[in-house]
Amino acid sequence: MIAQVIVDVVHENVAKPFSYLVPDGLALQVGIRVAVPLGRQKVNGVVVALSETCDIPPERLRPITRALDPYAAVLPHMLALAEELAKEDHCPLSETLRLMLPSAMRAGRAQAKKETIAQLTAGVDALTAAAQQKRSPKRATLLKMLADGNPHPVSELATLVTAPQEALKQLAAQGLIDLSECEVSRQQPYEKLSFELGVAPTLTPEQQAALAVMTPALQKGEGAFLLHGVTGSGKTEVYLAMAKYVLERGGTAIILVPEIALTPQMVGWFRERFGPDTAVLHSRLTDVQRCDEWRRIRLGKARVVVGARSAIFAPVSHLGLIVVDEEHEQTYLSDKHPRYDARNIAKSRCRREGATLLLSSATPSILSFAMARRGDYTLVEMASRVNNRPMPQVTVVDMRRELAAGNRSIFSLLLQQKLQTCFSQGRQAMLFLNHRGYNTFVSCRNCGYVVKCPQCDVSMTLHQLEGSDQSELRCHFCGATMPPPSVCPECSSHYIRFFGCGTQKVDEELHRLFPNVKTIRMDIDTTQKRDAHYELLTAFGQGMAQALVGTQMIAKGLDFPNVTLVGVVAADLTLNLPDYRAQERTFQLITQVAGRAGRAETPGEVVVQTYKPEHPCIIAAAAQDYRAFFTQEFERRRTGLYPPFTMIARLLTESESCDAAEAMNNRLYDAVDAFLKANPAQRRRVLMLRADPAPVTKIRGKYRYHVLLKVFEHPDAQPVLQMLTELAAVNDEQCQIYAEFNPATLI
Ligand code: ADP
Ligand code: ZN
Ligand code: ZN
Repeated sequence: MIAQVIVDVVHENVAKPFSYLVPDGLALQVGIRVAVPLGRQKVNGVVVALSETCDIPPERLRPITRALDPYAAVLPHMLALAEELAKEDHCPLSETLRLMLPSAMRAGRAQAKKETIAQLTAGVDALTAAAQQKRSPKRATLLKMLADGNPHPVSELATLVTAPQEALKQLAAQGLIDLSECEVSRQQPYEKLSFELGVAPTLTPEQQAALAVMTPALQKGEGAFLLHGVTGSGKTEVYLAMAKYVLERGGTAIILVPEIALTPQMVGWFRERFGPDTAVLHSRLTDVQRCDEWRRIRLGKARVVVGARSAIFAPVSHLGLIVVDEEHEQTYLSDKHPRYDARNIAKSRCRREGATLLLSSATPSILSFAMARRGDYTLVEMASRVNNRPMPQVTVVDMRRELAAGNRSIFSLLLQQKLQTCFSQGRQAMLFLNHRGYNTFVSCRNCGYVVKCPQCDVSMTLHQLEGSDQSELRCHFCGATMPPPSVCPECSSHYIRFFGCGTQKVDEELHRLFPNVKTIRMDIDTTQKRDAHYELLTAFGQGMAQALVGTQMIAKGLDFPNVTLVGVVAADLTLNLPDYRAQERTFQLITQVAGRAGRAETPGEVVVQTYKPEHPCIIAAAAQDYRAFFTQEFERRRTGLYPPFTMIARLLTESESCDAAEAMNNRLYDAVDAFLKANPAQRRRVLMLRADPAPVTKIRGKYRYHVLLKVFEHPDAQPVLQMLTELAAVNDEQCQIYAEFNPATLI
């Protein structure tokens, strides 16, 4: 027998499988991890195929050293997925296989914790046997404890009999009991949340209707749905019901959430319903915890997986359902190579494994909603909140008027009044600020003018020039530059400056206005510790503070009944991001954050502060009118030739040498240019071709350049994309080249 093994070494010389002899008596399956010799080294690998013969004569093959696990770590459908990803991303299979395994397992660091189990051998009469153990009362006691015939962990016996190990071994040698090894889990994540098992509430008519549409597909293991349910419509309860349906039929489910540390409540709801059948996977677990959760899933001990992006690779068998909660979130796009979109992986897994896909959001991405309209997904809608609670009342405040009226505070008078009322009634408030893009764009505090790139319809960002105190404005999209203006080109005001207002400043201002109010601040600074999110949110939930001040992280699925007021301190912060998705993000953020208000009996109020109250995106967000927003944004994308009508593609070159990166970038540009000149039909599909330093010119010591293209989204444009992928596959000593299509961020 011969095994084809992909070794866990990322180097192009070892990208293809190597053949090894399978020693007699070693039982191997495809997908099992093995240790093999490679040159003079010992390396780990994964068996990707088994065969009787191969091209190389058997006497020249070396044998596999040993199997690393008692089961195939990579299931057959996961191997197929890794192969598909490697092909799409033009990267070695060893690299995509790494996505399927916890890193500590690959490094051999987190061995499964084993426990010895003692059990009476079948047919033995424990009491008679105990009577015969005259020389050892300890052995007699142990036999009596095992008389029930059930398996007992040695650790349990040790709490009643001191040091039972030796006596147990002797009993096993006498053939009276059996000792066996068994894998056990170490402490589970979120163990401190110990839950009473709960029961489902009576579903609302809308929840029932949604389930009625989706259940037949669940039963058949097919279908792709987009659930558009307003904030507070009870989407989670729908996921729970679907997961229950799947589990009762012997299946498994994966529930993806954007960032689990921010949504401990979601984990709580699943734990409450499914108890230890729930596994949790996210970035804040220790390596060992992640490994243990992974094994529980692989061995079928946990059948519902709740996790962030990488949980899409959870090794479940009999997959019946994948839910992507808040499907519009950017976090589903991987920011590391191999780059993947968890939503696409979900689609691919559902197709391959015969499962139902459910994408869900109160603010679906433009792309997904467009696909649903085209019929790629079945659209399911939940238009009202649970128990007909009203949607929160949103008021837009024009911040230009505040300045004109002499209010220099970052809080409008209206927001100050509402905060006063909220606190005096013993309610809680959330103040929200999007820290990203903070301090980077230039806007006029008098008229709201924002400096934009003349060619691109995106705001320019402020950059400090290296080695000087000068700064310049740069367009992240096309590379254009200009000096920052000192007076507003629109209204000649001198109040034009980079917009700067962080969470810390909001917190200070709140203390100044309301000295007796306790606040909790949640941002990058206060959430460094492993459990910080959980602790801060729990404290707020228990009413230990009246206000929560935070960055966009608090906009996600939180459910605090006592929150009746939400303030969006600076709605424009995302609107001015240098990205064609800025309006989509702004709409999503305002709608989501507004959705945190008034989730219990008392209706909620939202104050949105902006310098652009007339902006259609702000108007649609204030009305929480997704359809209106979709219609206008889809039209803007169509006329402006943005995705999904076009594709932004780039070849990114990274190198420790600036010169090498630039030279490579120029060569790539020339190659693309030559290709287009030689293919006039393809050339017509390309709307833009440029070579520039990447917007972020250096990351982790590597210089970055890119060739940027805008391509009509059309099947006929495939050759252009293929050409780019092939160019990226070129090997170079000094440079790494990546082909990216519609990347999450263009940095
Ligand atoms: P969404 O994710 O759609 O914003 P959630 O799933 O967080 O909404 O649900 C909002 C609130 O309504 C939660 O507190 C949840 O427990 C409650 N809820 C959901 N469904 C029901 C129901 N059928 N009956 C009573 N309360 C419900
Ligand atoms: Zn102005
Ligand atoms: Zn530009």
